[in-house]
Amino acid sequence: MNQWPAWLPLRQNLRELSPYGAPQLPADAVMNTNENPYAPSPALAKAIADRVSEVALTLNRYPDRDAVVLRTKLAGFINGLSGTDFDAKNLWAANGSNEIIQSLFMAFGGGTALGFTPSYSMHPLIAKVTQVQWLNGSRREDFSLDIDSAISQIQRDKPTLTFITTPNNPTGSAVTVDEIEKIARLTSGLLVVDEAYAEFSEETSAVTLIKKYPHVVVIRTMSKAFAFAGVRLGYLVADPAVIDAMFLVRLPYHLSALTQAAGEVALDYKDELLGTVAQLRTDRDRVAAQLTEMGLNVIPSASNFLLFSGFDMPSAQLWQAMLDRGVLIRDVGLLGYLRVTIGNEAENTKFITTLSACLGEK
Ligand SMILES: *Cc1c(COP(=O)(O)O)cnc(C)c1O
Repeated sequence: MNQWPAWLPLRQNLRELSPYGAPQLPADAVMNTNENPYAPSPALAKAIADRVSEVALTLNRYPDRDAVVLRTKLAGFINGLSGTDFDAKNLWAANGSNEIIQSLFMAFGGGTALGFTPSYSMHPLIAKVTQVQWLNGSRREDFSLDIDSAISQIQRDKPTLTFITTPNNPTGSAVTVDEIEKIARLTSGLLVVDEAYAEFSEETSAVTLIKKYPHVVVIRTMSKAFAFAGVRLGYLVADPAVIDAMFLVRLPYHLSALTQAAGEVALDYKDELLGTVAQLRTDRDRVAAQLTEMGLNVIPSASNFLLFSGFDMPSAQLWQAMLDRGVLIRDVGLLGYLRVTIGNEAENTKFITTLSACLGEK
């Protein structure tokens, strides 16, 4: 544990924490943070650069505090995907969906927050930093979500915020929109559906529930399928009352003019940016089959990563052995499991051959 100096008046509840973050290490195959492995095309890079150089001429001024153009475009994007009729009043944009999560805690963390673990570790961590009491809800042994049990847990604890991550990170499994609707129908508080990997899943998005159930709010991001992690752009789709509350807790001008400009251009290139999703899904299924052939267990995944087990050495040891051979995957802290992000063809091949070597050698 970090030894903080006595003179430093750090909050008591932060003293025991370590900074979050997957190791950012050099490797031949970087397969640990669920990014899309395919870089933007030169044409898109040029379109972004052109737009940014226009905006650069006005950087003496603050950006549009309400990011209306970007939020309008995001609404159009979601409407195109889900057949909804949202406008800017239903959309909020921020520096990654992590900032969205933080804003939700700041606005609605007056009670407790509940999530079903194992799930995205930033949910409890941001709860801690914003001083909201976090409740660990449970899943089945195989990490799938038991909907009736989830409903009882929510009804018992009455959290003001309940998190459902689908497809779930780190397990990759998804719940159906009917299951989310059942939860929404029988519970109150805000039901936060974190859809960071939605584009990889065949399930209908929970954005289609918002009209009927205004307490359903949906978090999306450009960091994963959308292949735009470096820009830091996440967004929230919700009833306008929820968005109004975001205005209360946001910092003034939180989204830079450069981020807004890049995001707007990216949405014009959405077909290119999402063009690799089908490929990644096919590759995911192929890598999953290869892992199964090697005698490993793989949780069925609706995302761009796989959680696997069945190797007979400690996760940390296999993780290190892989890294020593140039393949960076993720130890998510689940005993006996490791997670791999689907990469490009060369990375996937390197992953499989390296894993076979590591498991054969020990
Ligand atoms: C990666 C991830 C996010 C965060 O993404 P940002 O880059 O902050 O938009 C949010 N939720 C889940 C479940 C994730 O896996």
